[in-house]
Amino acid sequence: MRHILRTIIAALQEAVFPTRCIVCRAFLKNKQQKSLLQNFQDGASLDCQNMPSFQNLMTGFLCPTCLKGFIPVEPPICPVCGIMFKSREGEDHVCGECLTSPKKFRISRSPGIYDREFMAVIHCLKYKGKIQLARPLGMLLFSAFISFWGINSIDIIVPVPLHIKRFRKRGFNQAYLLVRDWKLIAENLNIGLSNIRIDTNVLIRNRWTDPQTGLDRKKRMTNIKNAFSVNDQTIIKNKRILLVDDVYTTGATANECAKALLRGNAEYVDVLTLARAM
Ligand SMILES: [Zn+2]
Ligand SMILES: [Zn+2]
Repeated sequence: MRHILRTIIAALQEAVFPTRCIVCRAFLKNKQQKSLLQNFQDGASLDCQNMPSFQNLMTGFLCPTCLKGFIPVEPPICPVCGIMFKSREGEDHVCGECLTSPKKFRISRSPGIYDREFMAVIHCLKYKGKIQLARPLGMLLFSAFISFWGINSIDIIVPVPLHIKRFRKRGFNQAYLLVRDWKLIAENLNIGLSNIRIDTNVLIRNRWTDPQTGLDRKKRMTNIKNAFSVNDQTIIKNKRILLVDDVYTTGATANECAKALLRGNAEYVDVLTLARAM
């Protein structure tokens, strides 16, 4: 009995204060050093002027080497889909892809590039069920929201829904977990978020789709076409929507969601994802 109890406690401790890097499994040496997140959980307040970085937030989960595996999205970017151009020179300009196939959403932004350890961290959350990562990643997403949008420019936050079958299998919707704590974080920062609602019901996934992973752009578009609909237009009519997801790959999912929301007479749809595939 005592042994079982000890195992459970150790597992819980490991979940909150891991002893190994969640990506490469290296032992974390500096256990004394608390991450900004742990301080936040202990009741310390955040500073709106110095929004937390990936490194700040993930200390305590990642080793020093893996902490360096975050590449921020930096200008010049496409002002529509948010893709980062290879060259760091020049002005923002609409990319070829957005010119040839105009997007239904207004703008899409992400704080980081979907690559290296940042990609691994997202996989840990999504496929390995490490939902304790939703907190730091949610804070990272929140700080991206604050830096890209005015809080008065959005009425409703809509996490991209999963099909009910996938939701039951996974046990959670990672997109929702990323925004779940936003009210709490905003309160801590003295940012008034009370006019923004999170809605997990209005957008629904009508049909089962194969995972988009491994499909090329064209197949992704066909696979996801008309997969979403709105169940109550009165909720979103004339509302400014922020669609949230973990990764933006080709934009096919975001575009289909935006299409459904605009059909329901939303004023506009913007997109925010944690990571942007290049
Ligand atoms: Zn590591
Ligand atoms: Zn673009």
